[in-house]
Amino acid sequence: MKIQNFPEHIRQYLIPKPSGHVVYRCLGCEGEYDITQLLYTCPVCGSVLLLVDLNFDRLKKIPTDMWHQIFDYRRMLNVPSVQGIYRYHEFIGPVIPLDAVIYLGEGHTPMVEANSYLQNLVGVRFCFKNDGQNPSASFKDRGMASALSYINFLIQSGRLSDILAICASTGDTSASAALYGAYLQPEVKSAVLLPHKKVTPQQLAQPLGSGATVFEIPGVFDDCMKVVEALSEQYNVALLNSKNAWRIWGQESFSYEISQGFDYDMNHKVIVLPIGNAGNITAVMSGFLKFFEVGIIDSLPKIIGVQSTHANPVYRYYLEPDPEKREFVPVKVRPSVAQAAMIGNPVSMPRVIQLVNAYNERAGSQAIFFAEVEEQAIMDWELTANRNGHIACTQGGESLAGLVEARQHGIVSKDDTVVLDATAHALKFAGFQEMYFENRFPPEFEIVPKASLQNAPRLVQPKDLDKVPTAEKPLEGEDFERFVEQTAKAVAQELGLRHRNKMRS
Ligand SMILES: *Cc1c(COP(=O)(O)O)cnc(C)c1O
Ligand SMILES: [Zn+2]
Repeated sequence: MKIQNFPEHIRQYLIPKPSGHVVYRCLGCEGEYDITQLLYTCPVCGSVLLLVDLNFDRLKKIPTDMWHQIFDYRRMLNVPSVQGIYRYHEFIGPVIPLDAVIYLGEGHTPMVEANSYLQNLVGVRFCFKNDGQNPSASFKDRGMASALSYINFLIQSGRLSDILAICASTGDTSASAALYGAYLQPEVKSAVLLPHKKVTPQQLAQPLGSGATVFEIPGVFDDCMKVVEALSEQYNVALLNSKNAWRIWGQESFSYEISQGFDYDMNHKVIVLPIGNAGNITAVMSGFLKFFEVGIIDSLPKIIGVQSTHANPVYRYYLEPDPEKREFVPVKVRPSVAQAAMIGNPVSMPRVIQLVNAYNERAGSQAIFFAEVEEQAIMDWELTANRNGHIACTQGGESLAGLVEARQHGIVSKDDTVVLDATAHALKFAGFQEMYFENRFPPEFEIVPKASLQNAPRLVQPKDLDKVPTAEKPLEGEDFERFVEQTAKAVAQELGLRHRNKMRS
């Protein structure tokens, strides 16, 4: 809709202008640093940073009802820069002018309600939020849109040029970084570091296709991460891992969209998401907290972070009920179908610890929970979901398995409505589905396929047919008619089809 057709009172709010006073704040020493430079860790104490808007309180002056209208009307606006995560510009990188925004179609992914069969099976109303419908087919695009818009802002304001953007990845970060980097070439060049043979063929194809320089590194993600950290400390590169606080910021859009999707009523809502490097859960907690602070939502949803028993450092940390006695111990990961979350030493752990405290405190009672699920459950629930019309990846299956687990522990009640984060598209992880269907999982995965969830193509070979068509040699005439007749018959037999009553004219 054209600006002049919107109600008068909303027009001045529709197109956001740069605002706020944003600084990096260290989670260790609380030191604050200027955002005119790219910074990942505190130059004084080495801790991770978050971005804070020192003028955040200005947002509280706009009444709740006006905020609802601002976001709801913006939905109708045909302005690309506010069509993605920057619909919530006042809450995500408000200092970035709209003409620096990189929009590749990210965000506003659909919430698809499960059918009644699946809801009955799980015993609660739930939907998947399909973050696999982002441009590089994972939620990582939310954070990358933010990080690259910020970098573009630095380029446009003459503070940065000729950038080499670099990241370590379990597959999806590099796909996303390479995609967004490619949009800004030649000013930005990308290099990605992947653990050798620990990303799927699809995830490997993505950065290659976007023209990034791709390195395969021996070991697992945690090893790659150390190499990238060493590079970013010693050389002039832009780090695009979730250590980069701009990434986390963009990912807060997930919470804003869910709030808007429920017309800002977050009572009796539960969000379930997988945890890997713990950037996503950090962002989701932070997002809901900010909307709550400003009064855009009047209650905080429960959040359940899920980990596989094969990569569960965050779950283990919170097993200890006494906060004083909790101690973070990185774990050695074992092979996991939730490979994008197969991380033993999450870089955002300090952010998680801080935000879990803040969130529970603001909620007035425990609102953040952690669940652990078996590899078997992840696969079984992913396949079950997808046999009911979803496009969940293995990590989405992990969310659903986590919900089932949480139901059993009474964390989710039957009056709740649950949003499961399907963090990527099923197709990216089709190899695990194939291993399940063909019963080819190496023993370390501890997965035994259920026949009821397996599927395989059937080759149709009619018995008494001596000639079949090939690409080089098509059949003709009687041979062809015979082929069609016999093959149709074979398919019909296989499906147990009954003959139509022939109509006579
Ligand atoms: C990155 C990723 C995760 C893990 O998210 P974190 O922010 O690292 O906790 C989960 N699922 C998919 C598909 C991912 O790409
Ligand atoms: Zn510090």
